[in-house]
Amino acid sequence: MGMTYNAVIIGGGAAGMMCALHLAERGIGNVLLLERNDRLGRKLSVTGNGQGNVANENLSADRYFGSGRDRVAAVLGRYGEQWLLRELTALGGLFSADETGRVYPTSRQASAVTDLFRFALEKSGVEIRLGKKAVAAEKRADGFLVRTEEGELSCRMLVLACGGMASPHFGSDGGGYALARAFGHTVTPLSPSLVRLRTGQDPVRGLKGVRCDCTVGLMRGAGKRRSCFADARTRGDVLFTDSGVSGDAIFRISAFVREGDELSINFLPDIGGADLIAALRAKAERYPQMCAEDLLRGIVHSSVGKAALRRCNIALGERAEDVVQKLPYLAGTLQFFTVKITGTDGFANAQVTKGGVFMEELTERLESKKAKGLFIVGELCDVDGECGGYNLQWAFSSGACAADTIAEALCG
Ligand SMILES: Cc1cc2nc3c(=O)[nH]c(=O)nc-3n(C[C@H](O)[C@H](O)[C@H](O)COP(=O)(O)OP(=O)(O)OC[C@H]3O[C@@H](n4cnc5c(N)ncnc54)[C@H](O)[C@@H]3O)c2cc1C
Repeated sequence: MGMTYNAVIIGGGAAGMMCALHLAERGIGNVLLLERNDRLGRKLSVTGNGQGNVANENLSADRYFGSGRDRVAAVLGRYGEQWLLRELTALGGLFSADETGRVYPTSRQASAVTDLFRFALEKSGVEIRLGKKAVAAEKRADGFLVRTEEGELSCRMLVLACGGMASPHFGSDGGGYALARAFGHTVTPLSPSLVRLRTGQDPVRGLKGVRCDCTVGLMRGAGKRRSCFADARTRGDVLFTDSGVSGDAIFRISAFVREGDELSINFLPDIGGADLIAALRAKAERYPQMCAEDLLRGIVHSSVGKAALRRCNIALGERAEDVVQKLPYLAGTLQFFTVKITGTDGFANAQVTKGGVFMEELTERLESKKAKGLFIVGELCDVDGECGGYNLQWAFSSGACAADTIAEALCG
């Protein structure tokens, strides 16, 4: 079996790379990073539409969901956004935030962030084995035994940084949950998050390709108790596809979606209902012969206008003076455009996994309460963040937190 490593890290993604590098920086030798892919950080390299949205200036534990908000608060208290920017800058990159607070490398290339880690890891003395999958791990009296497809390894400390099961083609296929369960850990229910929503073709007919800034809510409940689910209300981009919706606002809201929910979209979030009706009436009075679709020109995207007219049973070409009675209904449709959700695009296309290892089973420093010396970090935890850099921040911060705790234990 060979020598005993001080630490083995399973998974060379954002969390695992940060953990390995941090251990080396703390002077811990004999560290092995195992990655099943033939290169490190495949998922990190595609994040943020390829631009690498690594952090967010508006970081707070409130941006996260799952069983671990207090654990998240504790970790981010020590390893927050400023800490991360110092770390990444020390690796040789430059980073800046856009007007919404999203932080990117100034090169706007996610793969460059992976490269920064790769360069530093190559110099660090960490042993990296690529194309090596850990298939099992168990506790031994003096540490851990890790089985790969080729053989066995032993180590004093073990870090599970295998990711969740979102977008499994980048390597994280959910196998990490089985490794954690083998140590007695509970895995909370798993579902895809930050993912496109499916609606079927009919409710979004004619809207394909339209992108607009909207307020989006979720309608839930039956009959008179059907109401907007307040926590899920959000504003941002909505992008229509031929049978669903995507965009930042949709990604954020996807974390909350349950079966039977309906989306309610406000295409004109900055104008009150009464003002909108008054504006439409004034235009109809001024141009009584104008066709209905032109009545909405300059107010909403022309495709949105046509979709709303269709819902109000107003034919294209109908004259403004003939639809005056229907204007309140039309205004209401533009500000309360409901779309039934038939499902999500699933794990295959999701950015993160909702659910994971139950956080009460980890200490504030992310050490397992089931097996001393075992650490669980990154997306494998029951922690999922909003869209906007929060998930990578958690991956990096949790990886560093585990590394420091391991370094203290090994040196202390
Ligand atoms: C398309 C896309 C875009 C995204 N954009 C953003 C963004 O802009 N900002 C943001 O904050 N978040 C974004 N995310 C989410 C973010 O990428 C993840 O939350 C983050 O990468 C999780 O880091 P991790 O290290 O925990 O897991 P991963 O990055 O998934 O890494 C886990 C690694 O472990 C390896 N592995 C798994 N099992 C084993 C095993 N048994 N043996 C050996 N190796 C194993 C995997 O191959 C993988 O490389 C995006 C995700 C996707 C899919």
